[in-house]
Amino acid sequence: MSSVENSVELDLDIRQLLDQQADVQARLAALLAKQHGFSSPLELGMIRHKLHVLESLAAQYGLSSYIPVISAVEEARALQHRCETIEMALIQQDPNIMHTLRQSAVRHAPPNFFSWLDHNIEFYDPILRNRGFRGVATNTASESYKCWNERCLRYIYGFDTSYERDEHMRSHASPVKRDSAYL
Ligand SMILES: [Zn+2]
Repeated sequence: MSSVENSVELDLDIRQLLDQQADVQARLAALLAKQHGFSSPLELGMIRHKLHVLESLAAQYGLSSYIPVISAVEEARALQHRCETIEMALIQQDPNIMHTLRQSAVRHAPPNFFSWLDHNIEFYDPILRNRGFRGVATNTASESYKCWNERCLRYIYGFDTSYERDEHMRSHASPVKRDSAYL
């Protein structure tokens, strides 16, 4: 068999496997939809595409810079969630996370990042705070337990345990001054 025929055969095999993969994914999405009432991977795929088309349209009309992505608090919460999942993955691989974060303050961080980082680690980052004692975070879940009150700083930075979160939630049960909601 010539190398050209070999290459054609390989292409066909790859195409066939990709078709099978697409078929399995479609059937899986249909089964998940049956089980949960909807399929989150399917919704995500559709929304991503819809967003892509809308973003292109907005760019065509020069509107991109005028459109807020999400509220600052929602974006901060989403970014914090991402930080937590990355820290969980990194914590056992890289013992120098703190050093790298501190070094970043020298080069391209916002003003006062260094002191903010120390405060952030001490009060809102049990994953990095506990690394020296336990090697891993005390919270084995993939994210912290967050407050439901979107005016509370703990809406962005959760707690290490659901117990701590539930105890904290009591502070929102009775009317409190706005300032004291930021614990
Ligand atoms: Zn709260």
